[in-house]
Amino acid sequence: MSALQSISGKSHAAGAETYDVVVVGAGFAGMYMLHRLRGLGLSVRVYEQGGDVGGTWYWNRYPGARCDVESMQYSYSFSDELQQEWDWSERYAPQPEILKYANHVADRFNLRSDIKLNTRVDRAIFDENANQWSVTTSGGNTVTTKYVVLATGCLSNARMPDIKGLAGFKGKVYHTGHWPHEPIDFTGQRVGVIGTGSSAIQSVPIIAEQASHLTIFQRTANFSIPARNALLSAQERQSWRADYPEIRRKAREETRNGIYTEVPDRGALDDGDNERRARYEARWARGGLTFMSVYNNLALDKAANDTAADFVREKIAEIVRDPQTAKLLQPNNHPIGSKRICIDSDYFATFNRPNVTLVDIKSNPIEEILPTAVRTGGKDYEVDALVLATGFDAMTGSVAKIDIRGRDGQTLNRKWAEGPKTYLGLMSAGFPNLFIITGPGSPSVLSNMIVSIEQHVDWITDCIAWMRDRDLDSMEAKKDAEDNWVDHVNEVAQGTLYPQANSWYMGANIPGKPQIFMPYIGGVAIYRQICNDVAAKGYEGFVMTCAEQPRKMVAS
Ligand SMILES: Cc1cc2nc3c(=O)[nH]c(=O)nc-3n(C[C@H](O)[C@H](O)[C@H](O)COP(=O)(O)OP(=O)(O)OC[C@H]3O[C@@H](n4cnc5c(N)ncnc54)[C@H](O)[C@@H]3O)c2cc1C
Repeated sequence: MSALQSISGKSHAAGAETYDVVVVGAGFAGMYMLHRLRGLGLSVRVYEQGGDVGGTWYWNRYPGARCDVESMQYSYSFSDELQQEWDWSERYAPQPEILKYANHVADRFNLRSDIKLNTRVDRAIFDENANQWSVTTSGGNTVTTKYVVLATGCLSNARMPDIKGLAGFKGKVYHTGHWPHEPIDFTGQRVGVIGTGSSAIQSVPIIAEQASHLTIFQRTANFSIPARNALLSAQERQSWRADYPEIRRKAREETRNGIYTEVPDRGALDDGDNERRARYEARWARGGLTFMSVYNNLALDKAANDTAADFVREKIAEIVRDPQTAKLLQPNNHPIGSKRICIDSDYFATFNRPNVTLVDIKSNPIEEILPTAVRTGGKDYEVDALVLATGFDAMTGSVAKIDIRGRDGQTLNRKWAEGPKTYLGLMSAGFPNLFIITGPGSPSVLSNMIVSIEQHVDWITDCIAWMRDRDLDSMEAKKDAEDNWVDHVNEVAQGTLYPQANSWYMGANIPGKPQIFMPYIGGVAIYRQICNDVAAKGYEGFVMTCAEQPRKMVAS
């Protein structure tokens, strides 16, 4: 009998609770992972440090928070009943609605009984003799498990900036990624927002309507496209639903980013000026992330990219009345799309309001935060409240917070000190039976993440079932397969414009973090095919062993 077969169902061997699988995190990844593993009849325990399910949508409650992939696509596809019955109210659902959806999924699929909330996983240690993991949680409880799945999220470790004097600030300080649960009303207050990434771009127009004065401290100007958000009519929903099988299939199998849209088979320089402008105008009017799909070479060819970047810079200059402010808001140090492109509702127009000031902290970095002001460029900007829209330690931040020790006591943090190393973004050599969902080395944050999450969860589920059918109980990435994959990920990235930006894709927003392009840019369709081929070849590049013949390679 294999070890896995012997423990389907929670047990208390040797005093410690034992599970087949421990899943860390109860966002969209952790919830779907639980659902699929239950389908195999396995015993699963999900630990979630937050007070409820939903992950990103549990934590990010700042004003204006909403998805930037359209809701009809930013939603699970694994259950046709679910996608047919759920009504999205807007083109881009607001955070409360996405959180409601996450809760609906938890209830509809009876997931809650296996999810332990308010429980952080602090440590996971691999026991080579027993071929199992010991997982220790914040309460000091330790359980054992055959498999660990890290569904800890790519954007879940909020980055607190290290600014002199921040701790001594007298007013309230909020981080967009850790927003309070009760509504915050800034009416009559002088508010400072530090950062101008996606969360700031979403929240600034709303905070500006409440605040007596809003000061935005900008280090890097970002490209943003109008969202053109609107209510979804029943008819629009119905037309999506009717075409769902084909839309979902195309998003998975034919796109780079997991978002179904038409991509013309032509590059930006194939058109003359007038035709190109007309195409950009049409996508600008339509709004949304698919602006970047107007041509097929914007991420690859700098001259092509410049035409799109110039178009957006011109639009900013048209919208923002004060020429100096407009100039500051025009991104000029990275190709469009090489940092996560934002979508907004009236972000640039907000700078025409008399109660809004833009402060350039690239030329004059913040010197200090005083009890009631932010000091930069020798000037003090008085504020009653501060909003830190300073983003996340992306992709590796939440994994790094867990003390993970694999073979020979090696820690994952030590192994990844020069940058994350994985095979397919799914496993790291030396850490058997430890899977990562949307890990570095997979398309993850470059895609509609629900598409990538479902693909990883399905692959992991199939893999565990495959092992069970063959009485295998240990799986590990081979070092050479991992090295080759890391090289491939870098090689593909170098063929694009992405590494030209100091982005969080590169770890550039975290002082001291190695600057390596973390996600796999080959696209979700190609990546899916690679993962499927690996599985079809008996999980090529992985070593598998069985309990009766420890260490003996029985499949690779
Ligand atoms: C504001 C915002 C908007 C976004 N909009 C989009 C969008 O429109 N489209 C898109 O594709 N993506 C978007 N994303 C990315 C988003 O993170 C993913 O789409 C998706 O929600 C990720 O799900 P997940 O389950 O992988 O991770 P998360 O939702 O981040 O969930 C991970 C969970 O793991 C928990 N966790 C982490 N470490 C531990 C630990 N040690 N112990 C216990 N629990 C732990 C966290 O508390 C968290 O709840 C957005 C992100 C943000 C921040």
